[in-house]
Amino acid sequence: MATLTFLGAARTVTGSQYLVETGSSKVLIDSGMFQGEKALRLRNWEDPHFAPGQVQAIVLTHTHLDHIGRVPRLVKLGFKGVVYCTPPTLELAEILLKDAAHLQEEDAEYLNRKGLSKHKPALPLFDNADVDAALKLFQAVPLGEEREAAPGIRFRYREAGHLLGAASAEVTVAEGGKQTRIVFSGDVGRYAAVLAKDPAPAPEADYLVVESTYGNRAHGQVSVLDQLEGVLKRTFARGGVLLVPAFAVGRAQQMIYLFDQLVTEGRMRAFPVHLDSPMAVDATRIYARHPDAHNVNLDGIGGRSLLYGKWIFHHRTREESMKLNELKGPAVIISSSGMLSGGRILHHSRVRLPHAENTLLITGYQAATTLGRALLDGRRIVRIHKGDVPVLAEIANLKGLSGHADAGELMRWLAEVKTPKEVFLTHGEEDAAFALASRISGQRGFRTRVPKMDERVGL
Ligand SMILES: [Zn+2]
Repeated sequence: MATLTFLGAARTVTGSQYLVETGSSKVLIDSGMFQGEKALRLRNWEDPHFAPGQVQAIVLTHTHLDHIGRVPRLVKLGFKGVVYCTPPTLELAEILLKDAAHLQEEDAEYLNRKGLSKHKPALPLFDNADVDAALKLFQAVPLGEEREAAPGIRFRYREAGHLLGAASAEVTVAEGGKQTRIVFSGDVGRYAAVLAKDPAPAPEADYLVVESTYGNRAHGQVSVLDQLEGVLKRTFARGGVLLVPAFAVGRAQQMIYLFDQLVTEGRMRAFPVHLDSPMAVDATRIYARHPDAHNVNLDGIGGRSLLYGKWIFHHRTREESMKLNELKGPAVIISSSGMLSGGRILHHSRVRLPHAENTLLITGYQAATTLGRALLDGRRIVRIHKGDVPVLAEIANLKGLSGHADAGELMRWLAEVKTPKEVFLTHGEEDAAFALASRISGQRGFRTRVPKMDERVGL
């Protein structure tokens, strides 16, 4: 009998990894890192409950680290199969995994230098060489094309919205003359999102594994452009600079697009937008290279992508970044990281926060203990690079850019599914997962389950 084991994202949001097994085949769907609390992060170091060398393939849904971050370690531990993903994910995975390796090498180096680790020496979960080895196994599969991942296990990608390259995976398992179809939602995006396409509705299936990040929430209707216009006009009237901490892949490109929209729609006169992050510059190039993967046409004047418009300045070097210290408003600086937990945004914050004419614009979720959260909570003095920085700048919060469907949108995504045997809710905290499970069983009459970590079910 085929089985499905939940090896991550069970009653929590991170660490997505599911194992589909038959008598002869083993295929993983996603292999993501655990993030957040220490107890979860320690799981990244545990030896897997399966022999990595016996897994024939990993089918990735998208490039976020909580879906791909355990791949380099599995390769180190003996995985030799194929890592499947969509074409944009192949390109984005390289920059995300290399950045993650770099950050982990830096962390390990810091712990060793300060003697802060009980492991001697502290090691990164994976390094740049591990990433290079892993990337050699990657193979791109376009949306809609069916492939055999292992004998008796086939899969096909479907649009998931959420992020460039993000997909749901429709997996068909054939064993003993019986066919079983399992649909893995991946991360489901919002309808009418900025840049990302609408998710394709879930197809009929025997089993569905559905994310539930916002399984107990409704996002509400807010116009992102109206909010953005307001905050820009206030800031520019003061002669200030708008500072935008943004995740380098996805959010940075959405912001460039939104700034362009305000000008194109005639709501504002053109103003310079500085993208200051080598990683965001790389990601922007990949966004421009996949013109058909967005829900809008990104063609700008003269056939160039509008992500490379006349008023958009891309900065890679440290010298270029430092020059921005002298920049006067009206202007925008987009830099990472998105939660102000590191990166060039810290330098810009140190320079801009002490001046009342500027604005720092938060554009996404800010985890507890991050500088982004402290600013949102109204802290008036913050620590940056070992110095106290007074916060006189305006702190604003742009709502409505979430990459995840809310509960109603997840119900809409499931609308065409008629007679599944069971729906599994994963990739959500317990409250969210159970809330969505009871809504699905209540409104649709489907059998639902919120699996526990490492739980195995027969299919
Ligand atoms: Zn994601």
